[in-house]
Amino acid sequence: MPRIFKFGGALLKDAEGLKKMASLVNEFQCEPLVVVVSAIGKTTNALEELQRIAATKDEKLLQQKYFELKHKHMELIQSLELEKEDDLLLKIGEEFRNLWDDLNLEYTDRYEAYDRIVCFGEKFSAQITYAVLLESSIPIKFIDATKIIVTDNRHTQASVNWPMTEKTIQARVSEALNNHQTVITQGFIGACENGNTTTLGREGSDFTAAILAYVLEAEEVCIWKDVPGLMNCDPRQFTDAVKLPHVSYNEAIELAFYGASVIHPRTIQPLKKKGILLKVCSFYEPSSEPTFINSDESDDSSIPKIIVKKEQTLLSISSRDLSFMAEEKLTKVFEVLSRNRIHINLMQNSAVSFSVIFDAQVQKRNQVIEELKEHFVLKYNTGLELLTIRHYNDEVIEKLSEGKRIFLTQKTRSTIQLLMGSE
Ligand code: ASP
Ligand code: MG
Repeated sequence: MPRIFKFGGALLKDAEGLKKMASLVNEFQCEPLVVVVSAIGKTTNALEELQRIAATKDEKLLQQKYFELKHKHMELIQSLELEKEDDLLLKIGEEFRNLWDDLNLEYTDRYEAYDRIVCFGEKFSAQITYAVLLESSIPIKFIDATKIIVTDNRHTQASVNWPMTEKTIQARVSEALNNHQTVITQGFIGACENGNTTTLGREGSDFTAAILAYVLEAEEVCIWKDVPGLMNCDPRQFTDAVKLPHVSYNEAIELAFYGASVIHPRTIQPLKKKGILLKVCSFYEPSSEPTFINSDESDDSSIPKIIVKKEQTLLSISSRDLSFMAEEKLTKVFEVLSRNRIHINLMQNSAVSFSVIFDAQVQKRNQVIEELKEHFVLKYNTGLELLTIRHYNDEVIEKLSEGKRIFLTQKTRSTIQLLMGSE
């Protein structure tokens, strides 16, 4: 049974990181292993920006940002001092030319444009990682994710076509593993049946690892991170963050749902279905205990877990005639939100008002407001913070909400959510 390793882009951003990755892969390569990589550093953000600039036709800025990104990748390659550096430079140079062509195409569907452009991050990183692994004399096989992850055509948020994906993974990946080759592929990307590239949603590389694990009935998935494991809160926001030694799949799903940025919401489900162990491992201290995620729920309530989502928008929607916000009206609201790809982080309704909270995205928000204002009275607040505490206690709630204005609260036995702003 193979192991799946997923390396995040933050780990592969310099020569040191890439060499460390290669030595970890080397350690495990005598057993069947599949390596999934995501885009290097902040490449995905840079590509999103390029796509936005391309749409505005600001040629000068587009060129400037494009060359910045290209330079970063070329510089990284040169710092690796590979024997076959020239081959890799040529290959990445060609990919960058493809990117430039794609940036200059006319698109009718901006979601399709997004996928076509943003997928390059993983294309670059997988080629670079592959070259590094090749030179460490690891028997390695590169398999393009667009040839094995088959999706629908819901660009930017594609869903997996499981029967077809199973077939292609079985055929291509299993064959390489049977030949004692370590497989490397790109996370986050796939293709729909007509061959067009799709993406699985931001942070989707973990999901790719889970898809492969599910189909290959893997022994375990290791997500290598620049933190010691799954933490009870974001260490960049809280100095007293602690590592969680063990959580259940269900707890991990809940954490992901509320926005913990460590694991992609869709990652856990396939692993849970087949009882595959998920480990969140420390890249910098690989011999330290990782966080174990499996079906055992016994440790879930032992440590309160805190998730803070910043830059939240609260949109309150009321009917024009003060009639109830009942099914029919809500159907309209959801239709508009869904069509504009707005993900709701929290919702609440009273008799005549329905409130939704979502991440700030000015363009999408304005579009939604434009479409809803014909039918409803709308009010909104921006710049709010959504605090979620799993397995809360009074002390933690008090500490975290002190001096804040509370816009909205929702509480269950295990979870409290507070939408907060400054006083
Ligand atoms: N590169 C993609 C992103 O930054 C996917 C991933 O990293 O998992 O969202
Ligand atoms: Mg990433």
